[in-house]
Amino acid sequence: MFNLILFGPPGSGKGTQSEKLIEKFGFKHLSTGDLLRKEIADQTPLGMEAKSLMDKGQLVPDEVVIGMISGALEANRDASGFLFDGFPRTVAQAEALDRLLELHKTAIGVLIELQVPEEELITRMLKRSKTSGRSDDADEHVQRNRLEIYRRDTMPVAEHYAASAKSVSVEGVGSIDEIFNGICNVIDAKIAKGN
Ligand code: AMP
Repeated sequence: MFNLILFGPPGSGKGTQSEKLIEKFGFKHLSTGDLLRKEIADQTPLGMEAKSLMDKGQLVPDEVVIGMISGALEANRDASGFLFDGFPRTVAQAEALDRLLELHKTAIGVLIELQVPEEELITRMLKRSKTSGRSDDADEHVQRNRLEIYRRDTMPVAEHYAASAKSVSVEGVGSIDEIFNGICNVIDAKIAKGN
């Protein structure tokens, strides 16, 4: 089993690249953003509570997303590998993920960080807001808030995995296929090394 964290700020292309990676490697895709948006669409109490935080660009509480991931790991025991997208976003989430994977007798193989300059991220999010219907993409103030939270709370997650030499950066600017090739090279090298 090979498990991957696709990491990077909002607008760095994680969703787009995830789709291609799932197709190529057969990963089970676990996006906490998608899972939360489904809760909102289904109008569950969890979704209603998460929506107000998401609309402001704030993180939902760790225990909420950890609970969702724990349930998804249980529900997909026969998966050949997981692609975590938008999770973990705090060191507490990363530590919880490591423990959960250990219970399932597996671990993170690599964290791949997509590197994109900040102004490019803002441009991409504004463009995405025109088709995604995502209210958190449309407002530049909310976007800047999400980037600030990323820098403060989420970037330390890359350092957490760097401590075990599992953190790799990939250029996130260029054509979709160029970026995809960069990611695939990292995964192939890690798999060839047996993690
Ligand atoms: P995303 O689709 O990954 O950009 O996530 C959209 C929003 O959902 C974020 O701005 C957060 O409010 C919330 N969210 C998604 N994943 C997480 C997470 N792992 N921890 C906390 N909040 C999250």
